[in-house]
Amino acid sequence: MRTRMIAGNWKMNTTLSEAKNLAQSLTTISSLQTEVVIFPPFISLETVRTSIQNSQIKLGAQTLHHEEKGAYTGEISGPMLKSVGCEYVLIGHSERRQYFNEDNALLNKKIRAAISHQIIPILCVGESLAERENNTTLDVIKTQLLETLTDIPYTNMIIAYEPVWAIGTGKVATPEQAQEVHAFIRGTLSEHYDQISAEKIRILYGGSVTPQNSPSLFEKPDIDGALVGGASLSTESFINIIQTH
Ligand code: PEP
Repeated sequence: MRTRMIAGNWKMNTTLSEAKNLAQSLTTISSLQTEVVIFPPFISLETVRTSIQNSQIKLGAQTLHHEEKGAYTGEISGPMLKSVGCEYVLIGHSERRQYFNEDNALLNKKIRAAISHQIIPILCVGESLAERENNTTLDVIKTQLLETLTDIPYTNMIIAYEPVWAIGTGKVATPEQAQEVHAFIRGTLSEHYDQISAEKIRILYGGSVTPQNSPSLFEKPDIDGALVGGASLSTESFINIIQTH
């Protein structure tokens, strides 16, 4: 049985005080059957950690550098994230791939770095609109998975399927489109690892998730929760998604 996860990616939004207020407003939720993780900007991690410390909400980071320390101006490492209480880290969000040229080989190093510091990686994969229209979605997803997971033994990890055309666009994949790719991801993980391991890995859907579309997405057998961008910045929307039956 996989516990549902709802992850809120705040991206480059919220000042320190806004982050504190948003985090505090979420702490009213309790007795969760669902695991909730929020991903504030780096500079707010410590403040948010304090705000959520007596709640069931967990903390994650939006990316990390693969080296432990050194002359990498502006970067943040695994030990730094661990020291501020991050339990999860997003790896390979499509915005990182697109704007910061993160390729699968680099993401492989980042996953290794996360694992070596006991931070659970949430690996994001997803096809562009052109790739979907060319019917290459499944090939693209398979390549992203196999290249990023090369020589990485099975461990506690999460995959987020985020079709690039659905992120921040208001265009959500249909539950059937998402389920098809989620089942394919699980099949690929089962070949790469084994079936028992693949059954344990949670696969989140991301791309314009709202309280309106979450119920039909979460009905699908291989959709184990959501990675939420825009709607995670609204307390009401995020809580409603968390409380989806
Ligand atoms: C995301 O940032 O991962 C995301 C899915 O964004 P949105 O929900 O805004 O589409």
